[in-house]
Amino acid sequence: MDLDAELDRARDLDVSELADAIESIGFECTRCGACCKGYEGDDGPEPHTATVFPDEVRALQEAGGATDPDGDGTGGDDSNDESGTPMEWRDVARPMPYGLVEGDDGPEGETFEWALQTSACGDCRFYEEDDEGQGACRVHEDRPLICETYPFSVALGGTSQPMGEAVDEEGVVRAHECEGLGRDISREDAEELARALKERAVRELREARGVTEAYEPVETGPGEVVVHDSEGAKRPDGTRVQ
Ligand code: SF4
Repeated sequence: MDLDAELDRARDLDVSELADAIESIGFECTRCGACCKGYEGDDGPEPHTATVFPDEVRALQEAGGATDPDGDGTGGDDSNDESGTPMEWRDVARPMPYGLVEGDDGPEGETFEWALQTSACGDCRFYEEDDEGQGACRVHEDRPLICETYPFSVALGGTSQPMGEAVDEEGVVRAHECEGLGRDISREDAEELARALKERAVRELREARGVTEAYEPVETGPGEVVVHDSEGAKRPDGTRVQ
C-alpha cells in the first residue's frame, strides 16, 4: 500500500463533505459505554481494544493523574493518583495484542502500536459508570481521537477501524455498530466530528508511515514484548529499546 498516496487523500478530505455524510447517517451519543467496554467475542470475553498514539499516551498520563486525585479503583497501579502527578505509561497504554504469542512467561514478541489500557474487567481504564449505569469518560477532554470520532471511520487504506462492524457507509465515511446511529445531529456537531475525523485519518497515516520508517527488527526473549511505534522500539513501560 502506498501510504504517501493515502496520506495525500486524507489531507484532501473535504470537512464539509464529511459533515454532510455524518449528518445524513445521523448520530447522538447515548452514553451507553459500549465503545469503552470489553465485549463478548467468538471465543469468550475480549478486553476493550482501541489504538492510541504515543503523544496521546503522554497527554493521558497527565490528564489521568490530574483527574483521579483519590485513586478510586480504576484498575492498574493508582499509586500516582494521590498526588495528581502523571500516571505511568503502562497504566495508560498496553502493547497492541495482535502479533504477540503466548509463551511460558506470558505474551511475547514484537507488536505495532499501543492500545488503551484496560481494567481487570476488560473495560477501558478511564471508563466509569454512575449508580444508574450511565457511562462517563474520566479524561473526556483529552480522550484519544479514535474515541472522539467513534462510531465513524474513513475508508482509506492504512487507517484504523474501530471495534464493531461497519453498518453504514456514505461516500468515504463509514459508521460502525452503535446504538446512537440514526439520531439527529446538528450541523455544528457534525462539522466538529468531521474535523476530528479528518485529523484522525491524517494522524493515523502519518503514524503508520513513521512506524514503517522507524522499524528495525528486535530479537525478543522469553516473556519479552517490544512495541514498535513511530518513535522507535519500546518496552511495555514506554521506555526505548537501545
Ligand atoms: S478514553 Fe474515554 S472515551 Fe476512550 S475508551 Fe476510554 S473511557 Fe471511553
